Parts: sequence; C-alpha cells; structure tokens
Amino acid sequence: MLKRILVANRGEIAVRILRACREMRIETVAVYSEADRGALFTTLATRAVCIGPAPAKDSYLNMDAVLTVATETECDGLHPGFGFLSENPVFAAKVRECGIVFIGPPGEIIAQLGDKSAARRIMRDAGVPVVPGSDGLVATAAEARKIAEKLGYPVFIKATAGGGGRGMRRADSAAELDGAFSEASGEARAAFGDGGVYVEKLIENPRHIEFQTLADTFGDVIHLGERDCTLQRRNQKVVEESPSPSIDEDTRRAMGAAAVRAAKAAGYVNAGTVEFILDGDGNYYFIEMNTRLQVEHPVTEMVTGVDIVREQIHIASGLALRYTQEDIVTSGHAIECRVNAEDPENDFRPCPGRIDHLHLPGGFGVRVDTGLFPGVEISPYYDSMIAKVIVHGRTRNEAVLRMRRALEELLVTGVKTNHGLLYMLMFSTDFLRSRTDTGFIERNLGALLSPVEKEMSL
Ligand code: ADP
Repeated sequence: MLKRILVANRGEIAVRILRACREMRIETVAVYSEADRGALFTTLATRAVCIGPAPAKDSYLNMDAVLTVATETECDGLHPGFGFLSENPVFAAKVRECGIVFIGPPGEIIAQLGDKSAARRIMRDAGVPVVPGSDGLVATAAEARKIAEKLGYPVFIKATAGGGGRGMRRADSAAELDGAFSEASGEARAAFGDGGVYVEKLIENPRHIEFQTLADTFGDVIHLGERDCTLQRRNQKVVEESPSPSIDEDTRRAMGAAAVRAAKAAGYVNAGTVEFILDGDGNYYFIEMNTRLQVEHPVTEMVTGVDIVREQIHIASGLALRYTQEDIVTSGHAIECRVNAEDPENDFRPCPGRIDHLHLPGGFGVRVDTGLFPGVEISPYYDSMIAKVIVHGRTRNEAVLRMRRALEELLVTGVKTNHGLLYMLMFSTDFLRSRTDTGFIERNLGALLSPVEKEMSL
C-alpha cells in the first residue's frame, strides 16, 4: 500500500481525499497557494507546503512546483483530484518519471480518452452506442455541412480537445454551420491549443446518465451503477442522483455492461466515468469517458457503500479489485446538490468574498463535503463550487424530503449562492416526477428564481 500521498488539489476535494488517506493511515502532504493559507485542507494533512501565489498557473497548475514538493517530501503516490492537473497526460507521465504513482490511469490513456473524437472510435469499435456523427475529425466547414445534412439538423460542432462545456457549438441549420464551426474550433484552439473538431447529432432534450467504473491493473473492471446528472445549467451539473429515476432495470443492465465494455476497450485503469446521454425513446449514446474522480462521486458512495477514493488508492497500490460485480448491491437513493458562490440574479456570475455566518446541515442520512468555515475567504481565482450537500434515503421520496430539510438548515452568508435555486428544485413537480432534461433549469429559471430563492440567497 502507498505510504505517503501528495494531494495536488485544494478545497472540498482535497479534504475528501485527505479524509480517505487518514482512515487508511497513509501520511499526506498538502500543497497550497498563498490564497489558501489556513484553508481547512491544509490543516488536515500531515504536512502542508506553500507552492506559490494565488493564480492557479503559478501554483496548482505549476507542475514543477508540485513535483518538487512531492519528491522532496518523499511521497510515493500523488492524487490529482479533479480539475487542475488531473486530466493532463504530460503531468501523469512526469509523476511516473519521478518514481511516484499517479492515482489515476496512465498518461497514454488520459491522452487517448481526452481526444474525444478518438474515444468515439474506440467505443464504436467496441460495440458501445455513440451519438451519430462524423467518423473522426472534420477539416473544413464545407465537409461538416455535408455530414450535417446527412445527419439532419440540429448538430453540435464539438472540439476533440473540449471539456467543461468549452469548444461546443450548436448549429440549427446550414446557415449557422460556418459560424458554429469557426467558433468551436477557435475557442478550443485558445483554451486547449487544439482546434480539431467533429460533428455530432444534437439529441433533443436528453437526460445525462453516467456510470462509475473501477478497473484494476490486472484487467478486471466493474461498475458501481449510474448517476443521473440531468439537472444542469449551461452544460454544468447542478444536482445529481443515484439511481436514475428514468431508466428501467433492463436499460440499467445494458448500460452498465456497455460502460464496462468501454473501460475494457480503452485498457482503462483506476476509477473512471463513462458518460451517456439518453433520448426520449430510451436510446443511450456514449459521449465521453472522464479519467478522474468526479465531483458527484459521493452519490454513488452513498448507495453502494464503496469509498471510491479508497478504492483508487488500493488500485494505484497495484492491488486487485476487492469487489466483484455481484458484490455491488445498491441500497436506497442519494441526491447531491452543488452549492456555488454565484449570483443567480446576475447571470450566476461567480461571487467571491468572505463567509460571514455558516451553519452546515447534519443529522441522519446527511453528508456535507466542503472546506468552508466561518471567516474563510472565497477566492476569485478558483472554482465557485464551495460545498456539496449529499443525502441518502430509503426511497427517492425520502431523499427529497431529507434534502429539503438539509437545505433549510444550511446557512451561508457573506457571499451570494445558488442555495435558493437548489431548494426550489426540490419542490419542482417536474423534478419530482423526473420529467426533466438537460435544458430544464434554463427554461424554467423564472419560476425557479422565486421570492423564496431571493430570501435564501441574501
Ligand atoms: P464537456 O466535456 O465539455 O463537459 P460533454 O461532451 O461531456 O462536454 O457534454 C456536456 C453536456 O452537453 C452533456 O452533459 C449534455 O448535457 C450536453 N451534450 C453533449 N453532447 C450532446 C449531444 N450530442 N446532444 C445533446 N446534448 C449533448
């Protein structure tokens, strides 16, 4: 088993990883930027080392700074969390060159799956349904137009290097295609240094369903069931739940088998997520595989009882999976709400500032993953997601009632948040009946940002 792990991240996910290490009696090293001096995660690690100024490029994205600390403190493992360097194949390879185990898949697999167009081909060849679209990259707008005509509009022009919703443009007609092509390509070139794009049919009003997989270095792969992440705003997840209320047992079984096939086809190792979209007729299509721990992993942990971070460390230590597929039995229902420091009345613009008063919910069936404490400064330099409220109940109904109660207890003042929006979602008839799709929040913002919302986000 690994003996000393460097956590190359910050905030709630660093806290989450450090907790798993502590339970496993593994020593830890936290690295932090000047903006995170005194942050909760720095106090939970065995040691903490400052690696530079607040801007991420000078600290959390500074590979040399992170690796110097990992080497000097004699770490034998490194957990990248999510975001920052977690999906950077060059970083994964450099970690390995330093003789340190990267807790995630090898760099080549990150690179292969990070190339979304190449990933589509691997999955298609493995018999995993992919969204109808181009066979590889498309060099010109004229070529894209030809493919779009065959597929039928609307289509997405997607950057093969895209991520976090960037490098994706919708085209509803041939007239919009040229613009969509150059915008998607240009945005991706600026953000990722790669302007390659492909065409995908736009699935109208889909649901987002993803499967958590675990793969060991011996080629064994299992899945831990699905997460339904349909409630999104601008392609960013807001509420996630497990199991999905919108698929039946047969579909669940077929999708789970497809996810395992996907991971095997990619030669995958460690924890990964196979993302699908589901259309109104119950057809599912692969969209991408994420090669890291996901923000929403706790809902899977709540229904399976499997500590995913612990399993990641176990696998990275070169040990065989401790569970077979038959060992994975889910129980009850879990929901996660992402609390973001953002201003719902100002187009959800990030809202940094100092946390004044804070009360975190607790009690039976409630888990809160956060680095918040009263007086902490929410930095403008990093992600605005500041806490995750997760509940578990025996049924979906019980989980919803528990989430309402948890959100009623939650108090965050000093910064504006989406707290009220989350609360309103828990009362939405469409959510309660799962009559939602990925555009639901956007279409219903007016109703969801009611006076209750305003009161709670004071
Ligand atoms: P990113 O890597 O930038 O997050 P994804 O390919 O995972 O991009 O897509 C993000 C979200 O965009 C999905 O969850 C889904 O809501 C939507 N989406 C992606 N592809 C399609 C598609 N072909 N049709 C409809 N919606 C899509």
